[in-house]
Parts: sequence; structure tokens; C-alpha cells
Amino acid sequence: MEQVQKQRLTILGATGSIGVSTLDVVARHPERFEVVALTAHTKVSELARLCLRHRPRYAVMTSDADAQALSSELRSSGLATEVLAGPQALAQVAALNEVDSVMAAIVGAAGLAPTLAAVRAGKRVLLANKEALVMAGALFMAEVRQAAASLWPIDSEHNAIFQSLPADYAGLFDRKGVRRILLTASGGPFRATPLSQMQTVTPKQACAHPNWVMGRKISVDSATMMNKGLEVIEAHWLFNAPADRIEVVIHPQSVIHSLVEYVDGSVLAQLGNPDMRTPIAHALAYPERIEAGVAPLDMFAIGQLTFERPDERRFPCLPLAYHALRAAGSAPTILNAANEVSVASFLSGQLPFLRIAEVIAAVLDQIPVTTVPDIDAVIAVDAQARAVATSIVADWT
Ligand code: NAD
Ligand code: MG
Repeated sequence: MEQVQKQRLTILGATGSIGVSTLDVVARHPERFEVVALTAHTKVSELARLCLRHRPRYAVMTSDADAQALSSELRSSGLATEVLAGPQALAQVAALNEVDSVMAAIVGAAGLAPTLAAVRAGKRVLLANKEALVMAGALFMAEVRQAAASLWPIDSEHNAIFQSLPADYAGLFDRKGVRRILLTASGGPFRATPLSQMQTVTPKQACAHPNWVMGRKISVDSATMMNKGLEVIEAHWLFNAPADRIEVVIHPQSVIHSLVEYVDGSVLAQLGNPDMRTPIAHALAYPERIEAGVAPLDMFAIGQLTFERPDERRFPCLPLAYHALRAAGSAPTILNAANEVSVASFLSGQLPFLRIAEVIAAVLDQIPVTTVPDIDAVIAVDAQARAVATSIVADWT
């Protein structure tokens, strides 16, 4: 029998919602995939469980103490996994020679360095960590080209767009007859909540997404629609699409994951149940198709697909993101950092929901937009924007 080379994987953020969905798909195809490294921030026993199931060569925790705890837990189960700690170790397992593909599924700016390490090592990078691309934009894409890495969209919208574009698209937009990209959005849990009630919504309400089960940060981003704003910027970089050719469409059923409109009037879309295992399986197996454990789409049960224009008064984060994309330079980095700080402050009960957008707008107002010549400049802008956002939150609460 022909020996098939297994795809060897590092999963950054293995204990998260995307990490766990990735491992679910991987476990369905043991003949195709081999897990080389798994990482987690603080959840020792969850990573231990995943290590026992997937037997990686390496596991990474953020702190030394957690790494030691994981190490002794694994040793007592007879597992030879080498346990490492800290940001350096994250970059190391993202760039290992024996790894083909890296799932970048850490949430937020913390994912930038290890994702870039995977890019620089020329890996197949499966990108869920949209914040890394939003904050580093042009520099990130230049690194991808330079290292001949490949970028595979995991975000369901971008995966849908990728599937709806021609196979030889290569960022050519107009030359491939593309007129617009239509990004669908569920509208989140507060799409129809009276504006007067939105001031008092709780983190629990904000994290109760109607269609998707996700991590807490992206759940709040979905409730403010900053998630869609970040995705507009992500689409700009992934598909070389100008800001005015990316339109957001609210589609509460989350069945159409996004659409591409062509100059001849054709509109191509990708549909499916809202289950991240579909885009994950697509990116893992491309150009083949593999079973992902996702229930078939039942059109008769769904009955109707509806669409609405987003209300910018209800979702001010969306115009803020377009503004940052158009302002270019350091603006998206500022936007992303201010958002991370204000979402964390909301989740900790410090900041009211409607203040999230106000903090971001104030930070964008206070910090002049500059060019960002290199990644160090991105990191400096990110730190500056976090400091300004933190002091605004402190002043306002
Ligand atoms: P999550 O909170 O469920 O998981 C985050 C993972 O990152 C965890 O494994 C955690 O241990 C790790 N992590 C967090 N902070 C870290 C740090 N400082 N250092 C190292 N590791 C750290 O988040 P998620 O919902 O899985 O989202 C992950 C990424 O994927 C985000 O960028 C999100 O925008 C994107 N995404 C998620 C979904 C979804 O359905 N969940 C869909 C599209 C895109
Ligand atoms: Mg998405």
C-alpha cells in the first residue's frame, strides 16, 4: 500500500473553541494528521487531557509554574511529551522543522509573535487569530510573501470568500471580475434589543451568541459587531479588496457564510451550518474534502434566509473599523488594541457595554496615526494604545 505522508500540526491555542474544534476534526482522520505540538495559556488540566488524547511531542504553557504542573501530570500518566513555557517556546513550536501546518488560534495580540514565527518558517498557516493580521496588516502580508508561507482563512466568512473566489484568484480583484465582497454577520445577541436596554447588558448576555459557540472575547466582538469590523480589515488583507468594495450584510440565520459578487451579476456564496469544523476541515484538507462531523444543511428546516443593512448607530464599532482601515498606517493597530482593552474591561464588569465603542473612538482620536515601518513599531503602537485605553477606562469608571 502507498505510504501517505501525514500532515504534521502545531495548534496554538489548543484549549480554545477553535483549538478544540480543530482537534475534533483531526481525531476523525488519524491516517491524515499527526499532532506535534499543543499550546494553552493557563488551563493545565484541559491541556493535559488533550495531550493524553493526541500525544504531541511538545506542549507549551505560558507560565513556568503551569508548565511544571502539566509536566508532572503528564509524567504520572506515562506520557513523554516535552513541556515548555513562555512566548519563546510558542514561537519555537510554531516554527519546528517537523511541522507542516500551524493552526493560529490564540485570541488577540498575544497570537501575533507565534503566528509570525510560523509565517517566517514558511508554514501553511491556518489563520483564526484575525487580530494578528489586523494589527500588523501590510507587514504581515509582506512576511507571508517573503517566506513563501501560505495563509488559509479559518474565519468562516473568509473561508467562504476563499471558496467563492476563482482558484487562480491571486489577489487580482478587478482583473478576476470581482465587483464586491459581501461579508455576512449574524448581528449578534443584541440585533433587536431596544437601544435603551443596551446600556445595562451583562457579559453573560453578550456572550450568549444566537448561532455560534465561541470564546468570550470574540463573543463580545460579535455583540458590538467589532468582530465584523476586524473581519472587514482581515478581508482587505487576505483578498486585496479595497474598503469600499467590502460590504457587511446582516443575515441572522448564519447559513450563508459570505458572498462574492462578480461584474457579470453572478453572486457566489458558501452555505453550511454554523459550525467552525467546516472551515477548519476545508483548510486542513484543501484541495480535498474530508468529513468534519458537521450535520448536513437542512434547507426545509431553515425555511427562510433574510438580510438587513447594519444600523451604524446600534453598532458604532463597524464604522470605526472602516475608518481605521481607510486611515491605514497605525490606525488598525490602535483600533485592535483599544478594542482588546475595552472588551476585557467590559468582561471584568468595569465598563458598560455601550462604552466599548466610545473608548475605542477616544483612543483613535487621541493617538495620531503614523506609518509602521516594522513589527517593532507595531508592538510599540499596540502598547501605547493599550496604555491610553486603560487610562481612559480608569477615568470613565
Ligand atoms: P478562546 O478564548 O476560546 O481560546 C483562546 C486560546 O488562546 C486558548 O487556547 C487560550 O489558552 C489561548 N490564549 C489566550 N490568551 C493567551 C496568551 N496570552 N498567550 C498564549 N495563549 C493564549 O478563543 P476562540 O474563540 O477559540 O478564538 C481564537 C481566535 O480565533 C480568535 O482570534 C478569534 O477571533 C478567532 N475566531 C474564532 C471563532 C470561533 O468560532 N470561536 C471564529 C472565527 C475566528
Ligand atoms: Mg467570522
